[in-house]
Amino acid sequence: MGQLLISAGRVLPGPAGEVIEDGAVLVRDGRIAWTGPRAEAPGTPDVEHPDGTLLPGLIDVHVHLAFDAGPELEAGLAAASDDELYERMAGNARRLLAAGVTTARDLGDRGGLAVRLRDAVAAGALPGPRVLAACAPVTPPNGHCHFLGGVAHGIEGVRKAVQRNAAAGADVIKVMAGGGYLTNGGALPWERQFTDAELAAVVVEARAHGLRVAAHAHGVSAIAASVRAGVDTVEHCGWEVEGGATRVDDALVERLAADGIAVCPTVHTGWPAIAARRHEGWLAERFAILARLHAAGVRLAFGTDSGVRGAPFGEVADALALLVDAGLSPAQALESATVTAADACGLGGVTGRLAPGLRADLLVVGGDPTADVRRVADVRLVIADGVDAGVPA
Ligand SMILES: [Zn+2]
Repeated sequence: MGQLLISAGRVLPGPAGEVIEDGAVLVRDGRIAWTGPRAEAPGTPDVEHPDGTLLPGLIDVHVHLAFDAGPELEAGLAAASDDELYERMAGNARRLLAAGVTTARDLGDRGGLAVRLRDAVAAGALPGPRVLAACAPVTPPNGHCHFLGGVAHGIEGVRKAVQRNAAAGADVIKVMAGGGYLTNGGALPWERQFTDAELAAVVVEARAHGLRVAAHAHGVSAIAASVRAGVDTVEHCGWEVEGGATRVDDALVERLAADGIAVCPTVHTGWPAIAARRHEGWLAERFAILARLHAAGVRLAFGTDSGVRGAPFGEVADALALLVDAGLSPAQALESATVTAADACGLGGVTGRLAPGLRADLLVVGGDPTADVRRVADVRLVIADGVDAGVPA
């Protein structure tokens, strides 16, 4: 595969606050071989971006490649054949890649199609980010997103559902610990869907297969149950109580931080539209929640829920800007989408930093995204797993 030396006006190795002015990265055989100041680089740069910033490829820990971002999720899925769905997923994967996302965790598709896509991308047959696939989320009968096929009843049922996904090649287990907004009937969004014993069984069975667990939880009761069960990430984490009001539980926030459970706040450009559908002040409540979690030391792993209503693929810069609106610095928002996201997915030894030995997942954007995070939209170069994605400069 040879080697490539890339220089840029600044290099962000990953952790917030680390900056190499006039830096360079050497890629060799698909891995990062060296990162440092250009003056000390082992050779002359092959590619130069003097007015750009070189950073790790971005990681979105929560997408749904099979969804079309429209209002009729269930009907849209039912109308699509597996081949049509796969086509859509391949297109969405391309959009993510063009936006600088080099790793995407799919937290719910149908029929294991994300596994097929993952393998096609890994084999070089399709352009796309590295995919981690959850397959069908584990949910009770009539539960949230039951139409994806992950229905499970009781302790034995959830164990079998985890076994089924593991056998299908899942990289992570997604469990719908609480209700949601995408499904008619079943639990309300702020209600929990599983008993403590059932959630514990999901985690034990996932661990037996070497898999992490991502728990969907809008409500306080589902967040609390997920924390007790020892999941790895809590998705959404809206602290909702009866009726959809917000009530953050300080003790639970401390427990999330102490247990190292990452929260994916699913930030996306549809947030203002959600606020208009729910209640006045919803957006301010979300920002306050994010600020509180961040201040308490809870790890925030960047994820967009791309594919759900109002959350199209590729609007990564706008989603990062929401984290900044909530009070994170641009550098902290980028850390959330690189270092923290990789660690939350168990990929800290694979990607998320520009460190020697890791896979070559790189992004060059114009200008300085630590001054204005929206600069991330000005994509100049994407290298995913050592391969130039061919984004027009
Ligand atoms: Zn989701």
